[in-house]
Amino acid sequence: MATTPSEPSDEEMLQAVERYLSGRGRGVRLIVPGTATLTGRSLLDFRIDRRFEIRGKEVPRRVPGKKLKEISKRPVYTDLAAHPIAVPAGFAPSPSVKLVLAGSIAEEPCKHPDCHEGMRDCGECRGSGTRKCPKRVKCDGCGGGVGACWSCGGTRNRDSQKPPAKARTQVRTDWCRRCGAHDAACPKCQGQQTMPCGVCKEKGVRPCDVCKGAKRVEHKPCRGTGYFTTYTEAEITHPVESDRKRVSAPPHLWWPTSSWRAGWRVARLTNVTDKLPADLPENLRAQVEPQLALAKREATRGATLRHLPLARVTVDADPEWVYFAFPARAEPDTLKVVRRPAKHVVLRISGIASAAVVIAVLVTVLVVRAIG
Ligand SMILES: [Zn+2]
Ligand SMILES: [Zn+2]
Ligand SMILES: [Zn+2]
Ligand SMILES: [Zn+2]
Ligand SMILES: [Zn+2]
Repeated sequence: MATTPSEPSDEEMLQAVERYLSGRGRGVRLIVPGTATLTGRSLLDFRIDRRFEIRGKEVPRRVPGKKLKEISKRPVYTDLAAHPIAVPAGFAPSPSVKLVLAGSIAEEPCKHPDCHEGMRDCGECRGSGTRKCPKRVKCDGCGGGVGACWSCGGTRNRDSQKPPAKARTQVRTDWCRRCGAHDAACPKCQGQQTMPCGVCKEKGVRPCDVCKGAKRVEHKPCRGTGYFTTYTEAEITHPVESDRKRVSAPPHLWWPTSSWRAGWRVARLTNVTDKLPADLPENLRAQVEPQLALAKREATRGATLRHLPLARVTVDADPEWVYFAFPARAEPDTLKVVRRPAKHVVLRISGIASAAVVIAVLVTVLVVRAIG
């Protein structure tokens, strides 16, 4: 296992800034008191996943059907609290385990008074299997109206009806059974406006729509089986919860301190007894430590502590710049330095910029007024 590089000291951080400045032709000694100010600004990205074990209450169950065989296949317990169960590895979601109390499974017949071996009388036809049905129905060729005959309109009074406009382009060859007119009747009903019912074929009764003529239907509560299975069930779940704590870099340091450029330290904690790195800066330790206490019903954990030692250095003789020192990614024992303009410089520049905008606006207003 690779040993984690130790935390750079303040002196090492200041020396790194010294080297950076001398590389730019400025030899200054920052270790001398009163020449520079160093503040720790270490970054943190801590994540902990916890898997819990929750043993639910014992619940009496009653399910339709003969399920003794099926339910007997489930794991059996006698003492739920003491029952040993494997905690799933990793921290992906895992299915719950449903256990059955030993000796609690039984099958019993459905005792509902309407139920006869899973079936009950059909309520729709009251057990007859049939329903009344009209013998004849409205003609679907002419719609059952005056179109049934172009001469009587279905009234038996021949020539009481004027043939419709379409009669000139269409031809009818049937004679009307009501008025006797030739070549005037609807070919489906021959002027009668009704036709035989297609469902009962003019018998006046049809099979019940609900039971399809079987007279009986499934008894829903027992799902047509006539049986129930009873047992006592307990469910054990292993939910996962994750927490994260971060101390992020300010936007102007995102790029140089990103994990592919800066030497982030990584430590993994898999046990409640695992210790944080001894030289972890105190402010980060204060953030992480409360997260590490053993949680109620916690079964397993996996935590990753990533942190980047980072120092902010201001040089008294050089107030225009702020320096940031941190380990480099390629050589974690080497410190890298970047500089950023000091806040007052940034404000001054943006002040100049916004002043320029204000002047431009004023000039525009004056010009517009002069023209208007
Ligand atoms: Zn039943
Ligand atoms: Zn019918
Ligand atoms: Zn007619
Ligand atoms: Zn018709
Ligand atoms: Zn029925």
